[in-house]
Amino acid sequence: MRRRARAVGRITPQIQPLVDDMVAVMRQANGVGLAAPQVGVNKRVIVAQVEDRLHVLIDPEIVRRDGEELGTEGCLSIPGIIAEVPRAARVVVKGKNRKGKGITLRATGLLARILQHEVDHLDGILFLDRVQDKSTIRDVAASSETDAAVPPA
Ligand SMILES: [Zn+2]
Repeated sequence: MRRRARAVGRITPQIQPLVDDMVAVMRQANGVGLAAPQVGVNKRVIVAQVEDRLHVLIDPEIVRRDGEELGTEGCLSIPGIIAEVPRAARVVVKGKNRKGKGITLRATGLLARILQHEVDHLDGILFLDRVQDKSTIRDVAASSETDAAVPPA
């Protein structure tokens, strides 16, 4: 979890079951994103799902960040804890889809936040590392219902 994940490079057939597994784990946890290191695979693969739209990114790179926004985050790898995390409001991410085709994703709002959270996982960075106001770190069980509804990533 704290290591820098390795680039996938050429897409081989072994990537397909990994992506399927990651999507299944994310959905089972009612999460909105997942990075391969979270399922014990040290490769640069992330998945994200917002409003029924599934995004699969292999070797993702954030090539542009604009603005800043504070938002609530949780993490499937740190269950029960949420906090306010500053992130860029808009990002442009380049990578490959599961077929190896180059893609450019322009994201704002929740999707932009998830992508930054997942790319951080690939670099061994956890969302708590990004928290500036430590007093915002809280137990989901002890917080309001709205906070508890924050989907993990
Ligand atoms: Zn996470």
